[in-house]
Amino acid sequence: MAQYDYDLITIGGGSGGVRASRLAGRYGAKVAVVEELRVGGTCVLRGCVPKKLLVYGSHLPDEIEDMRGYGWSVEGVRHDWKALIAAKERELDRLHGIYMNLLSGAGNDVLDGRGVVADPHTVEVASKRYTTERILVATGGWPSLPDVPGIEHAITSNEALELPERPQRIAVVGSGYIAVEFVGIFHGYGSETHLIFRADKVLRGFDEDVREALNLEIEKKGIHLHAETLPSRIEKAANCILVHLTDGEVLEVDAVMYATGRRPNTKGIGLVEAGVALTATGAVKVDEWSRSSVPSIWAIGDVTDRINLTPVALAEGQAFAETEFNNNPTSPDHENVPSAVFSQPPIGSVGLSEADAEKKYGALDVYISGFRPMKYTMTENTERGMMKLIVDRASQKVVGAHMVGVDSAEIIQGVAIAVKMGATKADFDRTIGIHPTAAEEFVTMREKRPEPEERAAAE
Ligand code: NDP
Repeated sequence: MAQYDYDLITIGGGSGGVRASRLAGRYGAKVAVVEELRVGGTCVLRGCVPKKLLVYGSHLPDEIEDMRGYGWSVEGVRHDWKALIAAKERELDRLHGIYMNLLSGAGNDVLDGRGVVADPHTVEVASKRYTTERILVATGGWPSLPDVPGIEHAITSNEALELPERPQRIAVVGSGYIAVEFVGIFHGYGSETHLIFRADKVLRGFDEDVREALNLEIEKKGIHLHAETLPSRIEKAANCILVHLTDGEVLEVDAVMYATGRRPNTKGIGLVEAGVALTATGAVKVDEWSRSSVPSIWAIGDVTDRINLTPVALAEGQAFAETEFNNNPTSPDHENVPSAVFSQPPIGSVGLSEADAEKKYGALDVYISGFRPMKYTMTENTERGMMKLIVDRASQKVVGAHMVGVDSAEIIQGVAIAVKMGATKADFDRTIGIHPTAAEEFVTMREKRPEPEERAAAE
C-alpha cells in the first residue's frame, strides 16, 4: 500500500500551480490541486487576461478618431459597459473550463476548499485530511492596502474588473504596473481619471527615460497626474467619494482604486506552524530549486515574491516538476526576464535600466530614439514612442532594451531573445531592418547619446 494518499498536493490552482501539477501528473505522479476560489488563479481570472481584454477595448475610441485621418467618418459610437463585462465573463468561464480540462487530462484531482498544511506531509481541505509525499505552495498574492482613514471605501483591481457600472470619475492610487494599466483602461472608456502617487514620476524602478516618456504621454492624453501626494482620508459623501490629498486638494470621484502592491498569500495556511521560514515581506523563503526550509514543502510563483510575473511562475512550476518527477534537475532562470506594462502607450523592457546597468558595468554606450508612429502621421494623434538600447561599453553586449510605444510588448519579446543570447550592439547593427516598421529602429540606431559633459558643452 502507498505510504501517502498523494505524491503531490499543490495548494493553489493558478498558472504556476496548474503547470507544475499537470506536468507531475504527466510524469506519472498522483496529484491533487487544492483551490478555494476558481481554478485559473490571478492571471487568468483577476489579472493579466481580463485586464488585457479591457485594454484592447479601451484603445478603440482613439482608433476611431485616427480613422478620420484615413477618410473614414464614424458616427453614433456608443459603449455598453455591461455588455463588455458580460463578454469578458464568458471568456473567463471558457478559460476556467480549459484549465479544469487540463488538470483532469493529466489525471489530477481537484479538491475544493482552502488548503491548510497540517504537518509537513498532510494537507487539510474542508475538514478532511490528505497525506502527501510533497506539498507545493502556489497560493499567489493579494492586493495590499495601506491604513488610511476611509480605506474601506476603496476598491482594488479585483473589483475594478467586475464593476457593474463604469465610474464616471475614478482616482487610482499608486504608480506601479497595475495603477498605470487601470488608469489607462478607465480613461479609454471615457472616465475622468486621476492618478495619485508618492513618487515624482510613474513606475519607480523602471528606466528613467521610460518613466519620463510614459509620464508625458499619459498626461497628454488627459489623465490627471497628482505626483508627490497621497490620500490622507477618503470620505463617502451622498453621491460621490471625496479623496482628501496630503497637498490639500480634495477630489470628487465615483470610485477610488488602490494599486499599492500585492502581498504573498502565506497567512492562515499552516506554513509557519509547519516550520516554513518566511521573508520579512511574508513570502516563502526558497532555494534555487524552489524548496522551502521544510524539505517536503516547495513554493513557486508570487507567494515567493521573486519576480511576480505569470511566465516566471510557469517556469518555476515546470522546473519543480522536472526536478522532482522527471529526474531532470532544473532550476528556474531569473536572468533577463522581459516584461511589459500595458499602459497607453505600452512599455516593453528586457535587461537592466540605465541606472542599474551603470552600477553593474560602469561605462555604457546609450542609444535613444524618439519617434512618431507612421500610423499617426495622417491623424491628429500626437502620441510619440521611445526606444533605448543600453550597451556595456567594455563587452559591447546589449544589457538593456526598452521601448515605449505601439506594439512594444510584441517587439521586445523578439529583442529579448537576442539579449538573452548575449548579442552585442554589432549583432544588432548587422541585422537588416524590416521597413517600414517601428521595430526596425532597434537595428538602425547608430548615434550614441553624447556623454553628460558633451551634452553640457553643446548647450
Ligand atoms: P507595484 O509594486 O508595481 O507598485 C506599487 C505601487 O504602489 C508603487 O507606485 C508604490 O509606490 C505604491 N505604494 C506602495 N505602498 C504604498 C503606500 N503605502 N502608499 C502609497 N503608495 C504605495 O505593484 P502593483 O500593485 O502595481 O503590481 C503588483 C505586481 O504585479 C507587480 O510588481 C508585477 O510584478 C505584477 N504585475 C505585472 C503586470 C505585467 O506584467 N504587465 C501587470 C500587473 C501586475 P513607490 O513607487 O513610491 O514605492
